[in-house]
Order: sequence, then structure tokens, then C-alpha cells
Amino acid sequence: MTEKKGDRAGVVQGRLKDRVVLRIRAFEPYSSEFTSEQIGVIADIAEKYGSGVVHVTPRQTVEIPDIERSTLSEIESLLDGHGLAPGSTGRYLRNVIACSRWCLYNAVPVSDLAARLNNLHAGSILPGKTDISLSGCDFSCVRSRTSDIGVIARAEIELTDKECKKCSLCVKAPLGCQVDAISLSEGELAIDADKCVRCGFCSNVCRPGTIRVKSTSFDIYAGGRGGMRPREAVFYKNVGSEEALIEEIGAMLQRYAEYGREGDRMADIIEKEGTGFLEG
Ligand code: SF4
Ligand code: SF4
Ligand code: SF4
Repeated sequence: MTEKKGDRAGVVQGRLKDRVVLRIRAFEPYSSEFTSEQIGVIADIAEKYGSGVVHVTPRQTVEIPDIERSTLSEIESLLDGHGLAPGSTGRYLRNVIACSRWCLYNAVPVSDLAARLNNLHAGSILPGKTDISLSGCDFSCVRSRTSDIGVIARAEIELTDKECKKCSLCVKAPLGCQVDAISLSEGELAIDADKCVRCGFCSNVCRPGTIRVKSTSFDIYAGGRGGMRPREAVFYKNVGSEEALIEEIGAMLQRYAEYGREGDRMADIIEKEGTGFLEG
């Protein structure tokens, strides 16, 4: 598997020559969920070694700016034992992020999967910067489609024999269908399978149980990126369980590590050659 990191992951040069920014990820519970104790540790470090300010990054880590490089070892020892560690910079696997586990719209909550992936792969050195982003539904709040590896949880729905009360709650946003896949025409409920994005929202609001979730799964996308040359990821494959997802992402990282040359992002390879190399 991929090489493990040496020291000084998580350190970014600051705007002032003699100052660095220290990026910190939480392993327990996982970034971006910090316990009050962890927030206290970070606040104390920012107060004593920085300028009393912390910055939350787009990839759900916390940065402490204005740190003297000579104090880094001392700071790292203060993080030990609190489920915190420097990381998520350069070619080290970036913090695996997930959307909120508390969101009403989750087809499947994905936070614990992100924690598992972080614990399995944090510190791996890959050919290029690598983002992995897990979304609990097609809203894709953590931008799964512009990540190197993006996951979107899906809920396949089905109609049951429970009588529809024609309440219309499933038909429209905000709680029902956001993509106009459901119609109630002349009292007849119809679902357009071509429009349905398998979010499962309609089943959440259907009190009689006329619509229910038949199965859940995960769509995996590959080769997206943001930045100055943004690119949308392509659909790679669907997997039917959390274990299959963990295994497949491990295999994708492995193949990327073996196939990519230094500096290649997954998006660069897929743009030129497609996703074939990921199949091994
Ligand atoms: S992606 Fe879906 S489940 Fe996740 S936070 Fe956004 S709306 Fe909620
Ligand atoms: S599962 Fe399909 S039909 Fe139901 S709300 Fe989502 S997109 Fe609409
Ligand atoms: S929410 Fe359920 S009961 Fe109401 S219209 Fe939709 S399918 Fe029928």
C-alpha cells in the first residue's frame, strides 16, 4: 500500500517568513466533529503559541496560524492523547470529509465511514493531492462531484400496497421530491424513474408508508477536482454496502499509488485515459 508519512505533515508556510500554519485533524470522533475537550486543547495552543485565532478550512480541518516553526515539536506533544494530529497537507491524503450526520435528508449517514477511511489511510503519500468526500444524499453538500473520489449515498424507493392519502407531501420541495419525479395527476401517484435521483426524501414524508426505501447503496465518482482547472468527476461504480465501499476506496487508492507518476492527480489521469487504470 501507499507509503506512510514522515514528520511535519500538516505544516504550511505562513505569509510571514518565520511563521507557519499548523493544520490539525481530529480522529476521534473525526474531523469536522470536535469534542469540547479537543476545542479546549486547540484554543490553548492558539493562545500560547499562535495569535489566539483559529481558522476552519474548507476540508473540515482546523488551522492555527502564526506559529514559530521551532515550537512545532512541543505543540505536537500537546495534541497527543486527545485524538488530534497534524495532517492533510501536500501529497498526504487530505482529510476525508463527510456531510452532517444530523441532517434530515441522509439516505445513509456517512460520517462514520469518513472516520474509518481517515483512520485507515490518513498519512498515506499518494502521487498527488487527493480529496475524498462523502455525501449522504444527492445534494452533495461536501462537493462529492468535484473531488478525486466522491461518494453519494443512494436510497432506492418502491411503492407498497399501503393506500396513498393524496396528501402531496412527497410531490414537492422542501420535504418531498426536489426533481419533479413524482406526480399526482387525477389522484394517481406516478414516479418517473428517469428523473428520480434515489434520494429517498419522499419515503421520509409518507406517513402511510405508500413509498418506502427498498435498498440503500453508494455511487462512487472519480477524477473530480476544484481549483483553477475545475473538473467534474465521472461516475465510476455503485456498491451495495459500507464494507464494499471501504474495500473499493482502498483498492482505488492502491491502484492510483501504483499507476500515477509524482504530481499526477487522479483527475489528470482520468482526463487522459478514463477510469480503466482503477480496475487493476
Ligand atoms: S448531502 Fe444531503 S444528507 Fe448530506 S448534509 Fe447535504 S442535504 Fe444533508
Ligand atoms: S427518491 Fe426519487 S422520487 Fe423520491 S424524492 Fe428522491 S428523487 Fe424524488
Ligand atoms: S406522501 Fe405518501 S400518502 Fe402523501 S401523496 Fe405521497 S405517496 Fe401519497
